[in-house]
Amino acid sequence: MTECIFCKIISRKIPAEILFENDHVISILDINPIHFGHALILPKKHCRDFLDLPPESYHHILQAAKIVTKALVQSLHLEGYNLFSNNGTIAGQSVFHFHLHVTPRYTDDNIRFILKLKEYSDGEMKRYGEIIRHHIQQQS
Ligand code: AMP
Ligand code: ZN
Repeated sequence: MTECIFCKIISRKIPAEILFENDHVISILDINPIHFGHALILPKKHCRDFLDLPPESYHHILQAAKIVTKALVQSLHLEGYNLFSNNGTIAGQSVFHFHLHVTPRYTDDNIRFILKLKEYSDGEMKRYGEIIRHHIQQQS
């Protein structure tokens, strides 16, 4: 299997603008930013997506996300920020090595998630709740 692009960055086979790293995670600047400073946080151990992420890395990912987000807010004077992760092709994932995006936001930057919000019909919300809770109970 050919190595993924983020694994190549981690092993220094290709360059990246590294913001932060420790034994577990690395944070780089996104090469095609929504705003300059758009950062990515990724585990050093390859995993495909959120569900593939090993539990021992949860803390490291969030800790790095907080360090980098705080630095972005303070150094680039962000007015807000989005933290998100695309998982699966249909959800917009293009690099199949789990990562969190941290994107700067500013007043009137005209970035919108275009949503057509739905409404549950009578009893439908309860039915969805039951289906999902049933699966959660089976997992525990
Ligand atoms: P996603 O589409 O959610 O999987 O995010 C992948 C992100 O990785 C995109 O925003 C790309 O711009 C970014 N990206 C791809 N290749 C590189 C690279 N060599 N260095 C930095 N960022 C990259
Ligand atoms: Zn990888």
